[in-house]
Amino acid sequence: MSVPSAFLLQASDIPTHWYNLNADMPEPMAPPLHPGTKQPVCLEDMLPIFPEVLVQQEMSQERWIEIPEPVRDIYAAWRPAPLYRAVRLEKALDTPAHIYYKYEGVSPAGSHKPNTAVAQAYYNKISGIKRLATETGAGQWGASLAMACQMFGLECTVYMVKVSFTQKPYRKSMMGAWGANVFASPSEHTAYGRKVLAESPDCPGSLGIAISEAIEDTVSTPGTKYSLGSVLNHVMLHQTVIGQEAIKQMEMAGEMPDVVIGCAGGGSNFAGISFPFVRKKLTEGMPVRIVAVEPSSCPSLTKGELRYDFGDTAGMTPLMMMYTLGHDFMPPSIHSGGLRYHGMAPMVSHLYKLGLIEAVSAPQTAIFEAAVTFARTEGIIPAPESSHAIRAAIDEALAAKAEGKQRNILFGLSGNGYLDLAAYDSYLAGTMQG
Ligand SMILES: *Cc1c(COP(=O)(O)O)cnc(C)c1O
Repeated sequence: MSVPSAFLLQASDIPTHWYNLNADMPEPMAPPLHPGTKQPVCLEDMLPIFPEVLVQQEMSQERWIEIPEPVRDIYAAWRPAPLYRAVRLEKALDTPAHIYYKYEGVSPAGSHKPNTAVAQAYYNKISGIKRLATETGAGQWGASLAMACQMFGLECTVYMVKVSFTQKPYRKSMMGAWGANVFASPSEHTAYGRKVLAESPDCPGSLGIAISEAIEDTVSTPGTKYSLGSVLNHVMLHQTVIGQEAIKQMEMAGEMPDVVIGCAGGGSNFAGISFPFVRKKLTEGMPVRIVAVEPSSCPSLTKGELRYDFGDTAGMTPLMMMYTLGHDFMPPSIHSGGLRYHGMAPMVSHLYKLGLIEAVSAPQTAIFEAAVTFARTEGIIPAPESSHAIRAAIDEALAAKAEGKQRNILFGLSGNGYLDLAAYDSYLAGTMQG
């Protein structure tokens, strides 16, 4: 008899609330500090850049926050996202482990990012905002926000890291198709961008610089707010629909994971799949291990320091207590553009500090080896970022085989790789570095 491999939910199973892990943290987090006064930031400090309702979510200790109906209606276009058992991958690895994955690549933008983009666009719209400014690295966030803004009739301006703007034109095309205005960052459009260009005209850009430009644009343009696709508490919150659905789907499968794995750049898809399981670990004593996977070239958790640092390069954001490589860290241009960020979400950093999660890193060629193995067994061509989670899941399955023990592995497949095919070409041609 064949093993069931797809666990699909109904529209009525879309979660009605987001889960706020801050309500269950065993120790409170260190507060963000104002960049000027170095005092804890208050709600008013954040109002120039975010609408009040999102600032309230950012600071909330409420356990469950209701998902507005218009947001759930849009979620229904691709949620509940499917969860699969990777039976052909298990066979290829000849492992006793059961490997499950939750697939977020079914969204229109191809990743988990619309889960928060839609929520953020909605709250800005009902707050009377006309336009959002943001930054994007490889383009997944810019594309997701462009789509969400279009759905709510907001204008959208995106500062896209220059190296990606020139090397990865197709996500820029998606942003254009969804009506956004895209600048290569550093740009001539902001004082900070002009300053960087004056000092180094060939600067390839970084996420930190692009964030500085988007914030400057926001505070100097009336009717505009800023939007961030990862790192912040309210972004982690919005992504928890992933893990809540996954718990229902694992119940359908009749097992619970012994280990939950997610790739981690700023930490949002990892938070999304894992926080509902962290809740079970904290409140029900579920014996689950939770593992974040990052690139060895941008290892904020595994090699960074836990301290207050800025979220951007220019030092305009609040100081956040997080694992960081330093806000002026220039990550090498790996293909997993979405994992090139100097810091890690304060909530994820806090869990790591408390020993509630583990972290590992892997180099790029090992990531693509896992990605190709996955594509050849499961069919889906995974995003390079997501392939970090696949690498760790395969390693867990091989460890189970070596020990001769069954174990249930769940990983988050945060997106598809259909706009990253040049990276696959490079791997297959044997020219990939690292
Ligand atoms: C952006 C992105 C990531 C990394 O961001 P997180 O906030 O760490 O989730 C991972 N996977 C995909 C597919 C992405 O687009």
